[in-house]
Amino acid sequence: MRRYLIAGNWKMNYTPSEARQYSRILKAMGLQDFSSEILLCPSYVSIQALVDSLRGTPVKLGGQNLHQESKGAFTGEISGEMLKDSGCEYVLVGHSERRQYFHETDELVYKKILRAHESGLVPIMCIGETLEEREKGEMHDVITRQLQRVKNLDQEIVSHLVIAYEPIWAIGTGKTASAEQAQEVHQFIRNILDKHVGAAISSTLRILYGGSVKTTNAKALLSEKDIDGLLIGGASLKAEDFYTIIQIADQLL
Ligand code: PEP
Repeated sequence: MRRYLIAGNWKMNYTPSEARQYSRILKAMGLQDFSSEILLCPSYVSIQALVDSLRGTPVKLGGQNLHQESKGAFTGEISGEMLKDSGCEYVLVGHSERRQYFHETDELVYKKILRAHESGLVPIMCIGETLEEREKGEMHDVITRQLQRVKNLDQEIVSHLVIAYEPIWAIGTGKTASAEQAQEVHQFIRNILDKHVGAAISSTLRILYGGSVKTTNAKALLSEKDIDGLLIGGASLKAEDFYTIIQIADQLL
């Protein structure tokens, strides 16, 4: 059975003080052991604030990006080792905003997955099509291409990989894929993974959905067979909403 992963991506929001305030609200609502795994991906400067304020709770932390090299003259970048040493367990790789604004390619995303693994972090590989690609009927080709390099990964890396399907047209737009639309793509992704790494591994891999997830659509999405968790941007910024979604997931498991 795949355990849900409920992840919040804060993007470039929340200073360390605001992060501490957020954790006070979460803790006041009660952070017992949930059936789902809970993850927050804050900005780099707020990681330490969350490590301190969420110590002793089940909430895990992740980075939003990492550099493909382990160290060196890369001004302004962050390494996997730095994230790991700061208390992160996960890292987002190839988020559509990284692909769109920072020109990350599939090849670079692959290198970052390798680096994440070498740093002891679990990579959450983000994939998804644009509206234009979907409307042109290219969605399946785009996803197939984005997953192509998974077959080159060692079994050890693949068996820990998390995939996040995030249709770009649904990110931050308020437009969500319906649960049925999302399930169709998640099943397609799992079939590709079956071919690349075999059914024994692909059946254990978690495929998260992301794109305007809210308290009102989380239940329908999570009820789908191949949706194993959520990557939540906007709604994770409100501690109360993030908590409500965690509770929804818990009731379903
Ligand atoms: C995201 O940032 O990965 C995301 C899905 O954002 P939102 O939930 O705001 O669409």
